[in-house]
Amino acid sequence: MGFEPRTIIEPFRIKMVETIAPTTPEHRREALIAAGYNLFLLHADDVLIDLLTDSGTGAMSTEQWAGMLRGDESYAGSRSFYKLEQVAREITGFKHVIPTHQGRAAERILFGTVCDATSVVPNNTHFDTTRANIEARGAEARDLVIHEGHEPAVIHPFKGNMDLDRLRATLDELGPRRVPLCMLTVTNNSGGGQPVSMANVRAVSAICHERGIPLFIDACRFAENAWFIKQREPEFADRTPMAIAQELFSYADGCTMSAKKDGMANIGGFLALNDDEWAGRCKNLLILTEGFPTYGGLAGYDMEAIAVGLREALHEDYLRYRIRTIEYLGEKLITAGIPIVRPTGGHAVYIDAGALLPHIPASQYPAQALCAELYLVAGIRAVEIGSVMFGRPRPDGGEEPAPLELVRLTFPRRVYTQSHVDYIAEALLYVGQRKDAIPGLRITYQAPALRHFTARFEPLASPISRSPLPPERKGEASRKKAGVGSEAAP
Ligand SMILES: *Cc1c(COP(=O)(O)O)cnc(C)c1O
Repeated sequence: MGFEPRTIIEPFRIKMVETIAPTTPEHRREALIAAGYNLFLLHADDVLIDLLTDSGTGAMSTEQWAGMLRGDESYAGSRSFYKLEQVAREITGFKHVIPTHQGRAAERILFGTVCDATSVVPNNTHFDTTRANIEARGAEARDLVIHEGHEPAVIHPFKGNMDLDRLRATLDELGPRRVPLCMLTVTNNSGGGQPVSMANVRAVSAICHERGIPLFIDACRFAENAWFIKQREPEFADRTPMAIAQELFSYADGCTMSAKKDGMANIGGFLALNDDEWAGRCKNLLILTEGFPTYGGLAGYDMEAIAVGLREALHEDYLRYRIRTIEYLGEKLITAGIPIVRPTGGHAVYIDAGALLPHIPASQYPAQALCAELYLVAGIRAVEIGSVMFGRPRPDGGEEPAPLELVRLTFPRRVYTQSHVDYIAEALLYVGQRKDAIPGLRITYQAPALRHFTARFEPLASPISRSPLPPERKGEASRKKAGVGSEAAP
């Protein structure tokens, strides 16, 4: 036997560095108060480790940067488009590849073309922009994930799977006239980055196609999903992630893609599909709002970066390192008794803040409170996925809480190393030990829709990192200094 290392290394070395600077607790407290305890309103320079999102935050490779210099900025017929088209076709097999500036633009063009107010679109779980774009047509977005997908502590290898019985019942009830297409989100972002099995994709495809309904993949994390299939579905143990992705797409009729995820780029996306008539209508809408079909709102160099990135996302060494990083943090938290969504998914660790902070009721936003505390203690920015994001007003003036109060620690691609992850774990263990002192929050300002981006909060008791000055007075001072916090928030 030769050397069989246990350590999974970052499969890259660093050619260019971006300095990150620790801040003082005093500075963080001022910044947090100025931001109204909403981490979306922080200046990124006040963040040490940014786990807000994996969208567009990754590091590009030398090959991607080299491609950027080769970008062809021709308005029509750009060479960079044909490169992107070729790679997207090789992976997905779809005939028409339509570039867009982000995933949500692909969604808007697709649903704007095929949905009307009578439509219902089933999905395992719609991502929020997907749901919003369907609802903007007056149509219904219906989530049909298996029930295990709603249980944070239940271990299941493919928690993103579609519930086949409910899908059959939905399609039989509504028929192809009401259901213009069915979607599958791989991995299931809103459900914890949980994968969908190939067996489930095959079954969903058969159920849809028997009824004449096209299947579209929300493909944002198709490479991570392919890796889980390779690890967890014995039939695929010896197949490459590329071959697995190709097979997965072969069961579908089209996809929407955010290249900010497994496109490994900082911006971009595409819509790909087989149907000529739908593609023609989508391209006409694209010309109206995004751009000519050989650039779709992207620079030529963006399309180069995506063309290279789509292949890099399928490298086995990269996927092994990426998925292991998430799992490694998850293991440390489980060992320390911090409840997380299990098993860990593809791009993030989700802490069950409702279970960790039972002294904070949902009406006091435990996940938002945990995010604030983690930032105060360690300069780490996570994101709330709980009642701030998904709480709904009740007719009696109260609020219907979200089903789960989660904190998502989302990993940018190829950005942080193992010592960063160790630091994150250390910070969380420290916060976990002092959890009883974390105060709940009260909303002082909120917008009528998508309030999580701009809401402002204040703690219901003094935060554990106490200040000799009352937080309100300090808040006023730093708000003025920072020039944010007017009530006319965007
Ligand atoms: C990010 C994301 C989208 C939307 O893509 P954008 O590029 O942010 O517009 C759609 N679906 C899923 C599952 C996503 O994660």
